[in-house]
Amino acid sequence: MMRQNELVDRVCAYHPNTDEELLNRAYVYAMHKHRHQTRSSGDPYFSHPLEVAAIVTDLKLDQDSVVAALLHDTIEDTDATRGEIDGMFGPKIGRLVDGLTKLKRIDLVSKKTRQGENLRRLLLAIADDVRVLLVKLADRLHNMRTLNHVPVEKRQRISQETMDIYAPLAGRMGMQGMREELEELAFQHLHPDAYSLVHKKLAELQERTKDIILEIEGNVVNNLAKAKISAVVKSRNKRPYSVFRKMERNGVNFEQLSDVIGFRVIVDHVSHCYQALGVIHTRWPAVPERFKDYISTPKQNDYRSIHTTIVGPSRQRVELQIRTHEMDQIAEQGIAAHTLYKDGIYTAPADSSQNPPTLGQGGEPEAVTESRSYAWLRRTVESLSDKDHPDDVFEHTRLELFHDQVFCFTPKGRLIALPQEATAIDFAYAVHTDVGNSCVGCRINGRAAPVVTKLKNGDEVHIIRAEGRPPPPAWEQVVKTGKARAGIRRATREARAKQYYGLGEKILGTTFKRAGRSFETDQLTAVLGKLAHTSVEDTIAAVGRGELPAENVLTAVFPNYQKERVQAAKTGSGEGWFNLSGVANIMFRIPGRRREKYADAAKELADAIPIRGAEGDLPVRLDQNSGAVPGDRIVGILTPGEGVTVYPIQSETLQKFEDSADEWIDLRWDIDMENRERFPAKIQVIAVNAPGSLAEVSEIIANAESNIANLFISQPDPGLSEMVFGIEVWDLNHLNRVIREIRGLSVVTNVERVNS
Ligand code: MN
Repeated sequence: MMRQNELVDRVCAYHPNTDEELLNRAYVYAMHKHRHQTRSSGDPYFSHPLEVAAIVTDLKLDQDSVVAALLHDTIEDTDATRGEIDGMFGPKIGRLVDGLTKLKRIDLVSKKTRQGENLRRLLLAIADDVRVLLVKLADRLHNMRTLNHVPVEKRQRISQETMDIYAPLAGRMGMQGMREELEELAFQHLHPDAYSLVHKKLAELQERTKDIILEIEGNVVNNLAKAKISAVVKSRNKRPYSVFRKMERNGVNFEQLSDVIGFRVIVDHVSHCYQALGVIHTRWPAVPERFKDYISTPKQNDYRSIHTTIVGPSRQRVELQIRTHEMDQIAEQGIAAHTLYKDGIYTAPADSSQNPPTLGQGGEPEAVTESRSYAWLRRTVESLSDKDHPDDVFEHTRLELFHDQVFCFTPKGRLIALPQEATAIDFAYAVHTDVGNSCVGCRINGRAAPVVTKLKNGDEVHIIRAEGRPPPPAWEQVVKTGKARAGIRRATREARAKQYYGLGEKILGTTFKRAGRSFETDQLTAVLGKLAHTSVEDTIAAVGRGELPAENVLTAVFPNYQKERVQAAKTGSGEGWFNLSGVANIMFRIPGRRREKYADAAKELADAIPIRGAEGDLPVRLDQNSGAVPGDRIVGILTPGEGVTVYPIQSETLQKFEDSADEWIDLRWDIDMENRERFPAKIQVIAVNAPGSLAEVSEIIANAESNIANLFISQPDPGLSEMVFGIEVWDLNHLNRVIREIRGLSVVTNVERVNS
């Protein structure tokens, strides 16, 4: 076990003004508190916090973190209290220990249903002070290193949690060394057979390639030396888990993966990275499309490096990572390395996502920009405040942890990092929720493109916006980021609530007017109790959703109304439902009815609810089978929870609803000529059964600016074919024109509109 003075020496080595007395006090306190406990291995329990503290010193974290590491299990496992620790070590250390205690109580894998909520709690605990996460990772690393002594079942659970949560979190914080060790240990326990197999193969490979590795290494060093660049060149050992994952992901076998050799070239200055790249590319051919410059565009976890692949001596593929010593350290230690260069990074409130990445210009030492990892952590936690879907939080955070990033730019050059496969819609939401909600189109690299386009690294994205239209709910299925998904859901929910309110208001207005009364929203306040609703808005929306009949509201506001109506009916002057069959007669016994005529009819129906089309602002859909087009007399059937389905009055489907008058709603078209929405209609064409008749009819439909949405063909008798076209038209005039033109074809014997 490490002695007290050894630990103090370790901290003093990188932290000159260490409070040695504080460290000593923590050492003695923790040792005393854990004195009666042992670990599964039989070792004294105190060896665990001490080893965790040692790992924390390897990461060169500050002394508060070292103290917190020593104390991290005292509150949970001994009689120590938060108050006692605050009193002895100060509230700052008390808070760290408290955060670690909370994390200890969160179980992230055992109960599937709680995963989302638990992950939220984990992220909230660490977002407060990222040192909590760093000490927790050290704690987990030591537990993983000593997992052999733990019962098998618990071993699996802890390994799974490490693989699912802690290793990706370490990676996301830029701590590659930590991530790799956690992954390798977890892999060993989760898949012992696969581990030993891959491990054995790698050892054989190393033996087989050691000469060629030495040759390439010498070659690279010599060529760089000739160009006066001093560099450390190290071959990279492959890790069993990373090989295993590549085999799994790409469906390839070990031999197919084993031919690539990896090197890391570490130089002193940023400018030397590019010079070294030039030297290497001059000497050996580069493999196309394998070059990546993460120096000018760092990864979101602060990783910076140049990646390239060349065809080396003896036709061997060689992967190279070129970086400075500092970049190398940040690549290994990530957010933990920042403490070496900058104070206060752990809880820095500044929003670094607004700053463009600082590029080293060759004048060293380069300035380290604020940690992007920490900014990511804060953003993730912010998105958690949307409490609607804890399960989504889990899935999305996990996805975002694993996926690589694509980097895109706003027209003003702001960097937007997104997960792989993200779309322009995700981009819009990443810029701002308002931009996402009003996004209607985009230009990618200056060219108009669909908003569902998957973005590529370096794309410049200009979002075209228009206010007043909620994002289509279907986008939710397309987007990749949790932020976009949450934004679309919220906007859809709000838009729907607004629609139901608007529809309810109109239904009530119509119902009251028909009863000879006028509707005011104030009237509802007094009758809320009677209607069993809590607010006026809620009541009106319930009418819109079809949950509350408008008649009930009417009789609640005017209790005498029923009586009056009975009397009116007796005298024959009562206003009932308009005569449906009468209207149908007018509409369809007069062929070729004109649009002007229709306008007159619309005036008579001033009470009716205006319909602006299925893309308008009401929860309305058109019955595809019946096909209603502007110009048709229409009625709506209110289906609770779904809204209104529009039918032309002649539709046979309406017979189903004949007996349920409450569901019927008067509608009228209110189509703006600017609206170029198309409406569904069906026509039945009987034609001579000859080759080319279908083509002739289709051509007429296309030339008349209509669309064919679907088509059914049958043969009522051998000489004739019956074709039923589902087409899309602007309005009734347009439909009649299409019918007239088809009728003019010599192969056609009959054309009729059908409504079922
Ligand atoms: Mn522990």
